[in-house]
Amino acid sequence: FNESYETKQQAKRFIHQKVADYKAHPIVVGKSASVYDAIVQLFLEDVGTLYAVDTNGHLAGVVSRKDLLRASLGNQNLSELPVSVIMTRMPNIITINPDETLLEAAKKMIHNHIDSLPVVKEVAEQKSTYLLVGRITKTTITRAYLEIMENKST
Ligand code: ADP
Repeated sequence: FNESYETKQQAKRFIHQKVADYKAHPIVVGKSASVYDAIVQLFLEDVGTLYAVDTNGHLAGVVSRKDLLRASLGNQNLSELPVSVIMTRMPNIITINPDETLLEAAKKMIHNHIDSLPVVKEVAEQKSTYLLVGRITKTTITRAYLEIMENKST
């Protein structure tokens, strides 16, 4: 069969992939940790975004590179400044569920101008309380796309 048919099939397969099958481990920081420690962790883990969690391990906030740079400008004591002060917090966090598709993840990131999405499961009977189970980034989408386009016969 012809190439354009095959490409269409691949594109179709790509958009139906589930977040659950591509998510990476979430890299977390306690929300009372300092901005200084968050910057160190960002380098150690080689990620662009950290997810802040409360003492129950529930998602409390998102801390990105720009958040950390902004906090660093003109602030002398980053060891005394908790990430909870500078993070984007609930309920303003855009999340995704494991059973949603990569297409939905891509749309959420592009429409909201963000680089990553925390993958979450809602805690039963606690509205807006989320258990963090992974992360999806723009790199995740690019990697999935490449895998599917290179692996033509499956
Ligand atoms: P960077 O700061 O490295 O460019 P982003 O573009 O992802 O990273 O972040 C831009 C802003 O959006 C930051 O203030 C960050 O806290 C916020 N942000 C990042 N991810 C999310 C998300 N999933 N939901 C809500 N806000 C987010």
